[in-house]
Amino acid sequence: MPSPSTDLYGLTRPELLALVESWGFSPGHAARLWKYLYLGLAASHDEMPEIPARVRSRLAAATHIGTLPVSVETGSSDGFTRKFLLGLPDGERIETVLMRFTGRATACVSSQAGCAMGCVFCATGQMGYRRHLAAGEIVSQAVHAARALRASREPRRLRNVVLMGMGEPLHNYDAVMRAVDILRDPSGLGLGAGRITLSTVGVVPGIRRMADEARPIHLAVSLHAANQHERAELVPAARKWPLDELMDACRYFCATLGRRIFFEWTLIDGKNDTADHAHAVGRLIQGLPAQVNLIPLNPTAGYSGSPSHSEAARGFQRILADGYGLPSTVRQRRGIDIAAGCGQLAAPA
Ligand code: SAH
Ligand code: SF4
Repeated sequence: MPSPSTDLYGLTRPELLALVESWGFSPGHAARLWKYLYLGLAASHDEMPEIPARVRSRLAAATHIGTLPVSVETGSSDGFTRKFLLGLPDGERIETVLMRFTGRATACVSSQAGCAMGCVFCATGQMGYRRHLAAGEIVSQAVHAARALRASREPRRLRNVVLMGMGEPLHNYDAVMRAVDILRDPSGLGLGAGRITLSTVGVVPGIRRMADEARPIHLAVSLHAANQHERAELVPAARKWPLDELMDACRYFCATLGRRIFFEWTLIDGKNDTADHAHAVGRLIQGLPAQVNLIPLNPTAGYSGSPSHSEAARGFQRILADGYGLPSTVRQRRGIDIAAGCGQLAAPA
């Protein structure tokens, strides 16, 4: 039996069905309940008029609907990005970002409060690890973003979720994959078939497990350097999962699933953005079905580097394309003025 605190946003559809049936109610109630949660974006048991009172009172006794109260909401000056500082029941706080693009919207969700990986240029890494998020706390962030779109009468629906907020998703594997399974359910938010992207610092066992479990989600690996020494300076987790083991895991992922992989490269002026660096990454990932996402460094309090100039970014792209046949993009700089860009998320006390 579930504990009284079961968060409905933390249950997969089959689990919700099993719960409702275990109380002797018909599966139709579970199906309606699921619709209230993911099409109605219900924030309480009272927003479910078609669920009979006897079912609702059972639900109210055994479950709750995890809503994450907004402490602060900020909007970027260009109007395209909104950042939510959300409270968790134990007082921890996390950030979620909603980005609007032409015809679509993407939610960038957190998988942990803080992060244990300590990447030197990342505000989340600089704040340290607080705790893992539960699956329901991850799902609720996407639901919150969908509610925000609905409240602003946006024609855009939530089309993508990126696990690129606070935390290292593969450090919190089980909760993250449960959340992914809930989010991609076709009769819920329907974020299936490649609409979810998970970004990892390079947790090798997690990448291999993802390959074996074969969920239809994209994988992005934060590379930032093409040799072990330089990488370990920027990404301390590289000492635990060295670059050669990481590349083996990436090859395994692509070969097992027959899928493309993304590599992220934060471009830091003079540090990892020269022609030599571009050639080194080209040689390292050549032969893999890969795409490189270049992210000009966003400012954080604890790191003094500067973003690469756009010339350097273009030169980097040219070398990857012409020398190694590797497609790349320079990530649109969104929400930098409200510290909602990559690596800028942290929860102020
Ligand atoms: N923990 C995961 C996902 C969160 S960060 C990971 O590290 O992959 C998403 C991306 O932003 C990662 O590639 C990360 O390395 C990058 N990033 C971190 N700090 C940044 C900064 N200050 N500027 C630009 N990109 C940054
Ligand atoms: Fe953690 Fe990712 Fe930030 Fe590194 S870049 S500290 S893994 S959130």
